Amino acid sequence: MTGIEAFVGELNILGRSFEERIGQVASLDDLESFKVEFLGRKGKLAAILDTLTALPPADRGTAGKNANYWKNFFSEAIDARRTALNRAEANAELSRFDPSLPGRRPYPGSLHPVTLVTQEICEVFTGLGFEVVSGPEVENDWYNFEALNIPPEHPARDMQDTLYVSESIVLRTHTSPLQVRSMMSGKPPLAVIAPGKVYRRDSDLTHTPMFHQIEGLLVDHQVSMAELRGTLTSFVQQLFGASVKVRFRPSFFPFTEPSAEVDISCVLCGGTGAIAGAPCRVCKTTGWVEILGCGMVDPNVFKAVGYDPDVYTGFAFGLGVERVAMLKYGIGDLRMFFENDVRFLEQFS
Ligand SMILES: [Zn+2]
Repeated sequence: MTGIEAFVGELNILGRSFEERIGQVASLDDLESFKVEFLGRKGKLAAILDTLTALPPADRGTAGKNANYWKNFFSEAIDARRTALNRAEANAELSRFDPSLPGRRPYPGSLHPVTLVTQEICEVFTGLGFEVVSGPEVENDWYNFEALNIPPEHPARDMQDTLYVSESIVLRTHTSPLQVRSMMSGKPPLAVIAPGKVYRRDSDLTHTPMFHQIEGLLVDHQVSMAELRGTLTSFVQQLFGASVKVRFRPSFFPFTEPSAEVDISCVLCGGTGAIAGAPCRVCKTTGWVEILGCGMVDPNVFKAVGYDPDVYTGFAFGLGVERVAMLKYGIGDLRMFFENDVRFLEQFS
């Protein structure tokens, strides 16, 4: 056999072994190794081509054409096999898909109890003619303390463990700065209700570093304590029912004078102090629970915002939303509002 015949003979043997094996390549990964084996730089075809330089120059053209024929044949056969394997994989995917299965039901979610109670309280007050306002959670010292008659060194600053951003910037410790902002941006008669987050450096069973308050303010000529009492009694009875009793206890807040705390008859035991003979843990057998703080706007607050205290009077009140929600829904643990357990939250949808 001459050099060229041996060369072509080897190509034919390689071609036959290729044809026998390509049909058995079962995966795309295997096909890649198969391609390297035949067409790679160190593959079987390259090994035969390496012997081409040993042929007489006159035979090299024929040898090259034969080698090219097989090279193209291999490439096309591998591409065709790849297409077939891809299609088989897609078909297998489809056969696993059952179009008759029911779809997944979308989870609709529900409003958080704090949001629900906030909305309900705001609705009661807008029904009484109040306007809902909001303001910044990062406040300066003047709005959060000074304008509310709480100067530096005032002991009331200790009552509210403050989170300071800088020496004069705080995370608001109450929604009361909105009294100041509302009075400065508007003119009497004013009736606003301001829900929002407040922050204190406090965390235990009954306190969280962030909680929700709602502030109310009404300013006009000759506003009296009787109107404050009437407004809050109407509010409490709309929220908890007409049979709920209300009592006012004298108290102290720097920004109201006189000040009062408001109790309602315990909504769990109906004011009896006991449930089925057992002592009521919510009101600790007293039959009363505290619900909010209030009072007549202190003349010093009017002076700070440029209102004449001889011309205007007003009342203000503030309540904790989580506390109202606990009473309204009979929830015993404050932390449940912040744990975001879906089993708890979905009960309020
Ligand atoms: Zn009770």
